[in-house]
Amino acid sequence: MVTRRIALFGGTFDPIHRGHATVARAAAREIGAERLIFIPARVSPLKGFFPFARDEDRLRMIELALAGQETLGVSDCELKRPAPSFTLDTVRQFQRDYGPETAIHWLLGADSVGDLVHWHRIEELIDACHLTTMRRPGYEPDFDRFVSRWGPQRIARLQQDAIVTPLVDISSTEVRRRLAAGENVSDLLHPEVLRYIREHHLYQAPQP
Ligand code: ATP
Repeated sequence: MVTRRIALFGGTFDPIHRGHATVARAAAREIGAERLIFIPARVSPLKGFFPFARDEDRLRMIELALAGQETLGVSDCELKRPAPSFTLDTVRQFQRDYGPETAIHWLLGADSVGDLVHWHRIEELIDACHLTTMRRPGYEPDFDRFVSRWGPQRIARLQQDAIVTPLVDISSTEVRRRLAAGENVSDLLHPEVLRYIREHHLYQAPQP
């Protein structure tokens, strides 16, 4: 029997921005998750490039953005494993750590739904946890197109787990672009994250 829920939020977080924090907090509330854990990926298998900031910088920026918020945390479990990071391995690890009475929700933005088909052992992942889709401006999650691959039960599960979260039009790509162009980013980032970026001279090179 499920007695508690936790939310895991994976991503590159290069860097973490206000969109991440806002939607993830809203998702945790909506789900009734007692804990929300950010999980920076060592390398996103789908992005095909290494992050712009080093692992320890991305991790530190998440810590700064979450400081003082008791139910929010960050795990470096994927940073410690050899790349690439597979979500299923992480979910299995948390299942072992938290036990069978804890339901695990893996959060993802609606823009990531189209990529799910490429995720490692996706059907097993859908069965193993609640893949919980959050809204993102410009993306309407369409699960129906995967019905012939994953079957109607999995599609119904994905649809049931999709939640309504605030629309926040921020991306790390835009943050990096603005930083490289010397534009203002104070509305996109936690002030401590911005201070860290300035102090460590991150994201100064123009985008490729
Ligand atoms: P990039 O611009 O480099 O693609 P990103 O802003 O999408 O980065 P990621 O770290 O790749 O950030 O995202 C991690 C997760 O957070 C993904 O599931 C993504 O869909 C989701 N996400 C990121 N930004 C938002 C947002 N503004 N609203 C909802 N979900 C988001």
